[in-house]
Order: sequence, then C-alpha cells, then structure tokens
Amino acid sequence: EAALRLSGIEKGYLRGTPGEVIVLRGADLEVAPGEAVALVAPSGAGKSTLLHIAGLLDTPDAGEVVIGGEAMQSRSDRRRTIARRREVGFIYQFHHLLPEFTALENIVLPQLANGVAPKAAGERARALLARVGLAARADHRPAALSGGEQQRVAFCRALANAPRLLLADEPTGNLDPDTSERVFAVLMELVRETGLAALIATHNLDLAARMDRTVRLDHGRVVEAA
Ligand code: ADP
Ligand code: ADP
Repeated sequence: EAALRLSGIEKGYLRGTPGEVIVLRGADLEVAPGEAVALVAPSGAGKSTLLHIAGLLDTPDAGEVVIGGEAMQSRSDRRRTIARRREVGFIYQFHHLLPEFTALENIVLPQLANGVAPKAAGERARALLARVGLAARADHRPAALSGGEQQRVAFCRALANAPRLLLADEPTGNLDPDTSERVFAVLMELVRETGLAALIATHNLDLAARMDRTVRLDHGRVVEAA
C-alpha cells in the first residue's frame, strides 16, 4: 500500500480568465512507506502546487489523492483537515517556528491540536528532540538556536503526530552546506527507521541523488528522472 498516491492530478489557476495557467496536466505519483522521493523541477514548474495538493492544503481540479489507502477527494473538508493533521507533516525552507514558544512547546502544540494529552505530548516531544540531538535545547526559544537546530526542531514538529507522509519544500535551502548535510542525514535516518514516506522538493542534485528516486515535473506531468 502506497503512503501517497496521486493519480491524474490536474490543476490550473485563474481558469477561464486571460491569466489562466495550467500547472498540472495529469500528474501521477506514488510514494511507498520508508521511501524518500526527490522532486526536482525549475521554479514555476508546479512543485509547491503538487505538494499542497498531496498534503490536502489545496484541491485538484481533477484526479485523486489517496493517503494511506483513503481516497480523499470525496471526503468532507472536515475529514480532510483531520487527515492532514494526523497523516501529513510539512517542512519548509524557512521553519516558521512560533518565536514566543520553546522548542519543546513548538512540538507539543500540534499534538494538543490533534487531541493528544499534554503529558504524552511532552514525552513524545522530548523523545523527538533527543532523536535529532537536541535534548539539551528543549527549553530554548527559536531565536536562541542556530539555523540547523531550528530546522531540526521543525522536523520534530512535522513528525509530532507521527504522520505517514512528510512533505518538504527545500528543507535545507536556507542552510550552509555542512548544516544542510547534517539536517538531511537526520531526515533520511527518520525515513529509514520509522517507515515514513517523504516527498522532498529540492534544487540540490547531490541530496536528490541520495534519496531512493528522483522525479521531475515535465509539462504538468511527473516523470522519473533518468
Ligand atoms: P514551483 O513551486 O515549482 O515554483 P508553483 O506550484 O508555485 O511552482 O507555481 C506553478 C505556476 O502556477 C507558476 O506559474 C505560478 O505563477 C502559478 N501559480 C501558483 N499559485 C498561483 C495562484 N494562487 N494564482 C495564480 N497562479 C499561481
Ligand atoms: P489549519 O490552521 O488549517 O488548521 P493545521 O494547523 O492543521 O492547519 O496545519 C497543519 C500543517 O499544515 C502545518 O504544518 C502547517 O504548516 C501546514 N499549513 C496549514 N495551512 C497552510 C497553508 N495555507 N500553506 C502552507 N502550509 C500550511
């Protein structure tokens, strides 16, 4: 069973106006549990659009999004929001941690929103921080952490609710090469050890080469890179 299956996804903006742009034209993609797939394409090709559709933040004009075997297009908005919170974690180039909360609290909050009890949420947050080497930083606010540390906290937050699927948009794009390397290594360990499925948009071909597969967006379709 694929963690994520996109089939026949079509998506355009400003349909029926002179500014119309058709971004996806029948995109198909599967990501298996424990698999990391790199998504490589030039700016404007539709990577963010594809990630937002895969993560149930946006709906396609046509096609089906299946997450963990559940076909999402026919579900209610409420059901899709619940599924997004439970099944999908997002990481962006800029971490968007909440500045007034500690690292630990940033990882606890999404769990509370998902109905986890505070004690269990705190324990899981500590375990995640330890997993990425930040046990000693639990009580620091983001401003007191380095860029690489902040991004590792953002990973922990994305994984707080043990999602099936991790979607990342240039997760190391804002980091220097050494820090990027360390953050990427942690990400791949998590994929290998937890069976997480990851779809990671990147311009970094070295990182892409270390994932299981690379796909490109070509005229609105997903193609396997050679
Ligand atoms: P990428 O992430 O690969 O840079 P995007 O998915 O952000 O690409 O955008 C793909 C195309 O869709 C671009 O031409 C962009 O200008 C256009 N686009 C994206 N979002 C919108 C929107 N909300 N309204 C109109 N056009 C959009
Ligand atoms: P909401 O505020 O819609 O209830 P959640 O708090 O459930 O969203 O957010 C779940 C994840 O989705 C978070 O990681 C958040 O970063 C991401 N997210 C929510 N809305 C957007 C958006 N409009 N664009 C990008 N990411 C979003």
